[in-house]
Amino acid sequence: MYTPPPTEFQAAVRRNSFNLCSAPHCGKSRVNIGKHCKAHHKVCGRYGHPHARPIKRPDVQWAREKVSDLFASNATHAGLVAATAWTRQWFAEALAAPSGTTHRDNLDLRIDLQRLDARGITADDILKEAVAFSIFTATNERAFPDTRSADYGMSRSILGLAPKAFEVGPRGTVLSARHYKTAALRTIGTTFRLTLAGFMASVRNAVEQESKKKEALRNALHAPFNAPASMYQALVAELPVAPQ
Ligand SMILES: [Zn+2]
Repeated sequence: MYTPPPTEFQAAVRRNSFNLCSAPHCGKSRVNIGKHCKAHHKVCGRYGHPHARPIKRPDVQWAREKVSDLFASNATHAGLVAATAWTRQWFAEALAAPSGTTHRDNLDLRIDLQRLDARGITADDILKEAVAFSIFTATNERAFPDTRSADYGMSRSILGLAPKAFEVGPRGTVLSARHYKTAALRTIGTTFRLTLAGFMASVRNAVEQESKKKEALRNALHAPFNAPASMYQALVAELPVAPQ
């Protein structure tokens, strides 16, 4: 039987299979024409780095609560108003059919964002989630091997506001993990990080100042005789209710 000679692509895939996966300590052979083995290629596609790990939603909850409180008590702050306006415009444009373009990435991004919209997630929810995740990232640097994996994490966190259902097989077995479009993972986190860098930094700073203030207050109350009188008075003055 006649076997056609391998195409250029097939030949390249075969050549590449003699190279080893570039993830540290892996040593398996590469698949396709990328630089990773099958397993690392998959992890990389989901989390942006071969060694990145999924972030559990409850782990970010404390940051969400802080951001909610801060936003609620600073509703008229110029930075928050501007960030909200930008996010609303970004969300509306991403949801609308981009005129004159049928670029696959735009369409893919829209599929994931339309699911959020259909489940009642608003631009304001998305902004809160993005800022909360940036606080989580800043305080958990070791969870992210590089910037790309942190960006993917933010994308997943935003998409997780209306998580895609697990695909379930006929006998109730889970067929695939939550699987978001590559275009959505690649663009959402990076766009928010780059556009709102200054705003996110100032929110992070506010959260940090607040926790420092609380810590100072706690220390002063635990060791009142060591605190200088002036500092102690200042701290007590900030208590919301008079000490019993
Ligand atoms: Zn590998």
